[in-house]
Amino acid sequence: MSGKAGLAGRSVVITVGPTREYLDPVRYLTNASSGRMGRALALACRARGARVVAVCGPIELTMPSGVKVVPVVSAGQMYRRTLALARGADLVIGAAAVGDYRFAGVSRGKLKKTRAPLTLTLLPNPDILAELGRRRFRAGRRAPLLAGFALETGRWLDNARAKLREKRLDLIVANRSASLEGDRTRIAVLCADGERRVFPPTSKRQAAEAILGFIERRLARTEAHAAS
Ligand code: C5P
Repeated sequence: MSGKAGLAGRSVVITVGPTREYLDPVRYLTNASSGRMGRALALACRARGARVVAVCGPIELTMPSGVKVVPVVSAGQMYRRTLALARGADLVIGAAAVGDYRFAGVSRGKLKKTRAPLTLTLLPNPDILAELGRRRFRAGRRAPLLAGFALETGRWLDNARAKLREKRLDLIVANRSASLEGDRTRIAVLCADGERRVFPPTSKRQAAEAILGFIERRLARTEAHAAS
């Protein structure tokens, strides 16, 4: 099935925006993700008839009507909520810029300034898509199709392909760091079966349409395979 109702009856989970790791009640570590790409994908999925849940880090944008929003703050919260929602979903799109690290300790009170240098320890956060990629090979479970993003500054296609493999995704969207906050983006879509397409610079809305074209074809193929 493809076209405007190509995701009718499908259940989609999208991670959106940045995550935020608190050091104390007023200070935190985050990144420049605006959530625009995730929002464009949520809108495009809704327009195609899907039930959409957006697991959103702290963003200023509002999600399109009809999209259920699950607000989260930290990467740990996003990890737990997304993994729970992924059970029974047909598709998970990791559009969030998930923070790679969190502080080893969170102070209950505001940290006092001193004249001494301050050394902070960061611990790695769990990878949501990589965990879903691992779980898909568990026997007896219907696994969702997995799509991720790779924001790269150099060797974008090679780096994206490595992430596609490491996280065991069906498809990855490579993009440039210049895409982070604006309305426009430059993407390439790389699929696990080797299909690849590099797009000219485009709006995030058009990029979302192109990405969903790839996803719909893959969903239809998986279904045809399962039925045969
Ligand atoms: O490894 P990297 O962070 O570049 O991978 C980006 C992709 O992985 C994105 O789709 C992002 O949403 C996802 N990701 C994740 N959990 C993390 C880090 C990244 O799902 N902890």
